[in-house]
Amino acid sequence: MTKRRAILLLATFLCVFLLLLRLVGYKGKPVYLASAKVAEESTNRAPAPQPPFMSAVAVPPPQAADAAPPPDKTGGFDGNRAYAQVAKQVSFGPRPSGSPAIARLQDYLQSELKSYGCTVETDAFSADTPVGRLPMKNFLVKIPGEKPGVILLGTHYDTKILDNFVGADDAASSTAVMLELARLLCPQHGKYAVWIAFFDGEEAMKAWSDSDSRYGSRQMAARLSTSGDIKKIRAFLLADIVGGRNAQFPRESSSTPVLIDLVWNTAAKLGYSAIFLNTSASAEDDHDSFMKRGVPAVDVIGDFVNNGYWHTPQDSLDKISPQTLAIVGHVILESTKQLQTK
Ligand SMILES: [Zn+2]
Repeated sequence: MTKRRAILLLATFLCVFLLLLRLVGYKGKPVYLASAKVAEESTNRAPAPQPPFMSAVAVPPPQAADAAPPPDKTGGFDGNRAYAQVAKQVSFGPRPSGSPAIARLQDYLQSELKSYGCTVETDAFSADTPVGRLPMKNFLVKIPGEKPGVILLGTHYDTKILDNFVGADDAASSTAVMLELARLLCPQHGKYAVWIAFFDGEEAMKAWSDSDSRYGSRQMAARLSTSGDIKKIRAFLLADIVGGRNAQFPRESSSTPVLIDLVWNTAAKLGYSAIFLNTSASAEDDHDSFMKRGVPAVDVIGDFVNNGYWHTPQDSLDKISPQTLAIVGHVILESTKQLQTK
């Protein structure tokens, strides 16, 4: 390593570390990302209640090999900010549907999205599950376009019910990517509208089945069918488990072929073929809720079967790479741009 490179790396980590300290509410500072609007609000309002352990949490900075590329190399997507958003979500603790921790995350997502100037629709509903009737919330960011038609992006933000499971990769990583995309896209206007969905209740409460899973995306797809809006969706790009240090993305074989090609060709053009593989694997996920209603969709999902920590308490922050988050963010951003030209 050259001296210049070492200094650059050191500076990068100092930045990430400072951002993390700010995000975890170090010394009781406001817990939001830096933003003039939120800073203003926070002086006028009592600070949001924080879990007691948060002020004491020291988040380890990511490893050197996982450094995010500078945002100007990834279409403006900031991998360090996305990493800090994963750390922030993990700091709330386990976040299953209906829990006090997910309620705090819901407040955080809303205030964060508003601070970017996003228009956010909230759908609070309840779902009958094998563990009882649970309150859930979907959020839908709506960025207007010039012509009829919608490009939908999405993630789930709940975590599986499991002791000591903080879901850094499943599903804080994809939620962080969507937050960062919202920050970039909310001030823009394209040919088509871009909507960004944050689903509650993707995880099964007991055993995965069609009735015990994907509560949030089934709810949103049903509502958009009733309103007729579902017909406007030209493509749905879903992300899930997208932050792993050694993540690899096989083509999700149940997705719509033309969209699989679009995303994986985009990744190849950007130089990410070592991560976006040409192998195939299939996954049941939130895209199914829309595909069943005729919406073309693609799931960008890391190879969770082989990552070694899926649905275990080892799915923690140390598994997450700012670089992987930046690559996935860049691919989704560029794929969205491609869809805007069609
Ligand atoms: Zn999961």
